[in-house]
Amino acid sequence: MAPVSSRPRFYHAAHLDALTARAGLSARERLRTRAVAAVLPFHVSDYVIDQLIDWDSAPDDPIYRLVFPQPDMLPDEYTELLVRLLRRNASADEIHSAARAILAKLDSHPIPRPEQHSPTLDGLRLQGITHKYPETVLYCPSGGRRYATHDVDRLTAYLRAHPAVTDLLLTGDDPLFLTANALSRRITPLLSAPGLRHIESIRIATATLARWPARFLTAPDAGELLTLFERIVRGGRNLALMAHFTHPRELRTDHAAQAARRVLDTGASIRTQGPIIRSVNDSPDIWAELWRTQTRMGMVPYYAFVERESGPREYFEVPLVRAHQIFTTAYRAVSGLCRTVRGPVMSAEPGKVVLDGIPWIHGHRYLSLRLLQCRDPSLVNLPFLARYDPAARWLDDLEPALGTAHQPPWPLLLGTRPSSARNNPAASW
Ligand SMILES: *Cc1c(COP(=O)(O)O)cnc(C)c1O
Repeated sequence: MAPVSSRPRFYHAAHLDALTARAGLSARERLRTRAVAAVLPFHVSDYVIDQLIDWDSAPDDPIYRLVFPQPDMLPDEYTELLVRLLRRNASADEIHSAARAILAKLDSHPIPRPEQHSPTLDGLRLQGITHKYPETVLYCPSGGRRYATHDVDRLTAYLRAHPAVTDLLLTGDDPLFLTANALSRRITPLLSAPGLRHIESIRIATATLARWPARFLTAPDAGELLTLFERIVRGGRNLALMAHFTHPRELRTDHAAQAARRVLDTGASIRTQGPIIRSVNDSPDIWAELWRTQTRMGMVPYYAFVERESGPREYFEVPLVRAHQIFTTAYRAVSGLCRTVRGPVMSAEPGKVVLDGIPWIHGHRYLSLRLLQCRDPSLVNLPFLARYDPAARWLDDLEPALGTAHQPPWPLLLGTRPSSARNNPAASW
């Protein structure tokens, strides 16, 4: 197994020219890439650079395309404006303000700020907590302020007062970037506090298995983290890593295989999710291989998301009809054990919407949609129809078909924006 650093080291914009030279880009394309990177943040870990990218195929390599700014990612006029600034060695301030102006023009559907559903306890707002669905509470342990014991006390009190909650989902910036000790200080009180047996599952949304498997192998506190996982499981809870994967290559390294094995040996389960991304994984073969490999490794395929990003990252979006075609072709090629996966799923602010199919009704095609998850449980699992539109990329591109009278989810979903929980937390590391 090739050695990897125990903590990720990050490459950033200052390394871009050398890295794009390694990918074989011409001087002009390298400059255009730097211009794009003035607008889009770029930082990528040594594991991705050394283990995941196939440099012989770069710049067409899918992992390279996922993590590096592309010279054609912005409208040409903007790229060329920035190229001119870089050529005449404009000041950092000047470049920065040009980049900000460009970003503002591009942000046609900005990802909303963290949803304002943080609940209150005794009239005080609970920071970093979202009561997302009746049975699910989101907790961002690395969000904002420093950890304080009373925050966990208040989370515990809130959960105790809400016996309908079965799932606590740790999310936000990757929670496994916290030390095992920091994570334990947040989770252990929940395990031992009285009156919390209704919390049946603790989930952790993370991209570490794909992007930093050393987290479970050689990180200084890897053993401590696995012991924490064991303690959660022995305490009678289901612990699930909601693991982000975008390409089979992320599963092929010995590091990923060993890391997954160690996690599973603690008794935790691993459910997988990731977006369908144009030019990275928008092919049925890739998805079939992803699900088969995950299943062979003991993971459970869970969600295939529709990518929805703001501004320049529209570059990665795939139309809904195409996403359905990719999903269905892949789904037909795998066994029932892989068909735990649902998709293509739009993770929207009110809930999760799956595109189930494209039925013909009286000579017309429609899109048949369904809420898998919703703030209002009475709307879950009801089919509803949209007009067929092969170019539509999101709910707000769709129009209700055949009237809304008997399609109760529609009023909630019209003009709906993406959830602030990003589908693609690992896009840039
Ligand atoms: C998907 C999702 C969840 C969990 O939903 P499940 O269907 O129970 O997996 C929670 N919060 C957000 C923001 C989500 O997007």
